[in-house]
Amino acid sequence: MLQQTRVTTVIPYYQRFIQRFPNIKALASALQDDVLHYWTGLGYYARARNLHKAAQAIVAEHGGKFPKVLADVVALPGIGPSTAGAILAFAFGQRHSILDGNVKRVLARVFAIKGYPGERKINESMWELADSLTPIKDIAQYTQAIMDLGATVCVRGKPACGLCPLQTDCLAIASGNATLYPTPKPKKERPLKSTVMLMLSNNEGEVFLQRRPPAGIWGGLWGFPEFAGLADVVKQCEQRFGFKIEIAQPWPEIRHGFTHYELQITPLPATLAGEAAAVMEADAQVWYNVAASSARGFAAPVKLLLQKLIPH
Ligand code: SF4
Repeated sequence: MLQQTRVTTVIPYYQRFIQRFPNIKALASALQDDVLHYWTGLGYYARARNLHKAAQAIVAEHGGKFPKVLADVVALPGIGPSTAGAILAFAFGQRHSILDGNVKRVLARVFAIKGYPGERKINESMWELADSLTPIKDIAQYTQAIMDLGATVCVRGKPACGLCPLQTDCLAIASGNATLYPTPKPKKERPLKSTVMLMLSNNEGEVFLQRRPPAGIWGGLWGFPEFAGLADVVKQCEQRFGFKIEIAQPWPEIRHGFTHYELQITPLPATLAGEAAAVMEADAQVWYNVAASSARGFAAPVKLLLQKLIPH
């Protein structure tokens, strides 16, 4: 949960999650929908799917006990070398170096390292540096300290150099502007993609939802059927689902930002023209009662639109 998300945001999600899935076996045997439901609102859903898969792998391959060997931990879905090193340092006191975003920033500043840390060469030399600095004793304290230094003192925007225990050794502060380090990622324009989300209601007031494929954006979450543009929605809807529909005026567009692109969503309300049609695949399609909450995972913009559909 803490990958890419701040501790203060995570705490209530973590508490609800741990209450519902108190151990690895409980998580491994849960339905993916249930896991995604407890993650709804936290974003980066691949983390939830990976956590679920990792729990299943630990049960299947390690008898339900968290592995203690670095290679086994790195082999778990969603765990990279830095997270694996941190887990083993904290949980078992093993000596492994870590290099998450906060640590990279501290190292780039203290040693005035030029070049974007995402580049392979810079990244490799940072791993070597991190390893050379990692102590043999008190590994958990060192790991926590360097992570916390990056998260609370040597922060991205305005580092609190006056409070920093490394201020006398830090080359970035000596250069006069610590925030020049680390070198930022070379800029790329985020492309704009667009989609039409069809909010189709039947005469019971239920909304038609589909489950998205397991991989990719919002994988495994429930959402509205999507179309490339407004033209042909009626015809395509009949071809894809066998539904005859009447569309209304589209709602104002909404934007949703992903790491690699911006999504422009046109919400299109519609009603079934004929009899309420049954759904063919209950696991992948559903007529959903918006007023009664149920344990399904939704992406943030879908959740927002569903809330607006609730009759007041
Ligand atoms: Fe970061 Fe400033 Fe400390 Fe250098 S002195 S490590 S820039 S907080």
